[in-house]
Amino acid sequence: MRRYPVIAIDGPAGAGKTTAAKLLAERLNITYVNTGAMYRAVAFLYSKHGGDPVKIAENLQIEFRGDRVLLNGEDITDKLYTPEMSKLSSDLSAIPGVRRALVAKQREQALLGPIVMEGRDIGTVVFPDAEIKFFLTASAEERARRRKEQFGDPRPLEVIKREIEERDLQDSTREDSPLRPAEDAILIDTTGVPLEQVIEMLMEHVRRRGFNV
Ligand code: C5P
Repeated sequence: MRRYPVIAIDGPAGAGKTTAAKLLAERLNITYVNTGAMYRAVAFLYSKHGGDPVKIAENLQIEFRGDRVLLNGEDITDKLYTPEMSKLSSDLSAIPGVRRALVAKQREQALLGPIVMEGRDIGTVVFPDAEIKFFLTASAEERARRRKEQFGDPRPLEVIKREIEERDLQDSTREDSPLRPAEDAILIDTTGVPLEQVIEMLMEHVRRRGFNV
């Protein structure tokens, strides 16, 4: 079955992917898909009920409503964005069966309409033939600062920074679909760049590529 156009946005934690991807999708009036939330939802269910993470991923049925993530109609967003779920989602995301199940669901999204999809392996594995691939980065200091502000994390910046660096190392060194830029990805360093300017840079590439939704 033919898929619709895909804009892939990958990068390490706190690089500004979520905000940028969401706004870009809004500007283009297409669907935004946050794949990190899917890995987090698997971690949440596993921490709550235990069981086989692969089965949990295969049976996962979450819904996105704007910013919020719903599970069986219940808003679980706040439960997904905790330091525990960040760590556990990274641990479970290294399991090939978990990835296989979620990647299949992610690919289905592009059969419904054009999308901006955010994650770690979108341009390399999920849609290696994506029409446009961005890889966003920022310094570890800046990424920790953004996390702290975004989630109102009361812990010292140093602790958050260390946690982010550990998670990125784990995500970049796993066997299956490690975090890395696709060869044809457009690399954008967002350190010190205001959000509005990041969006403008993305839009400029989108226009230049004649991306047509
Ligand atoms: O993007 P976010 O920080 O919410 O993702 C949580 C974790 O899920 C990441 O640290 C990573 O281990 C995993 N993930 C992944 N592949 C994706 C998206 C997220 O392995 N496409």
